[in-house]
Amino acid sequence: MNANYQLDYIEGIPAKCPVIGCPAQLPPQQLLAHLLMLHRPEDSMQELGDEWQNICELDLFELSPGSNHVVDAIAYAGSGKANRSRPIGQELQLLHHLPILVMLYVRPPKVNVEQQYILYLVAPVASRRVRAHVSLLSEWDGSELRGMRCLRNYLDAPLNDSEELLHCNMDYLIYKATDVWKHSTAGAMCTIQLSVVLLGEPNLFEVPDDQQEQSA
Ligand SMILES: [Zn+2]
Repeated sequence: MNANYQLDYIEGIPAKCPVIGCPAQLPPQQLLAHLLMLHRPEDSMQELGDEWQNICELDLFELSPGSNHVVDAIAYAGSGKANRSRPIGQELQLLHHLPILVMLYVRPPKVNVEQQYILYLVAPVASRRVRAHVSLLSEWDGSELRGMRCLRNYLDAPLNDSEELLHCNMDYLIYKATDVWKHSTAGAMCTIQLSVVLLGEPNLFEVPDDQQEQSA
């Protein structure tokens, strides 16, 4: 269905822990567990609510090809309409927050294939209800550039909103290096801005194909 489905190997590539001074380098799922168990969530994650825009700035010179990088570590609280939104405390309230890592993998260039920047979301559950609108912002006019989305598992049927949104542990958003560099700042610091907007209600006990509750 999609020639990019073999991107699964990215999950095994270590990324550096985003907490300053911590030397840990782990594959994304293990890194998420590390953040939850070995750091205080209020130090290592930021709380985001439904439809809040978070803009992440990255220095392109620090993104080495062949490596995974943490763009953002989020405790997602949802809309709070169901009293789920609580401030992050010393004990992350897992019943109320869905921990999510926004990851970036820089795929090195190959013969006849341009270098690519691949974004994806990592969470403890493969969530279909929590989804994100992720895009690259242009510093010149603030416009958004949409990446090419592809499914992690080509056997998955595309979701209705698959053209617009990323789902945790399910899909990737791919940008060509020329587009990324075109949208970066010029000068000594070569930075890009990524916009991340999360949508939907977190539910750590979500099970795949749970149609009952959705149709209720
Ligand atoms: Zn750490």
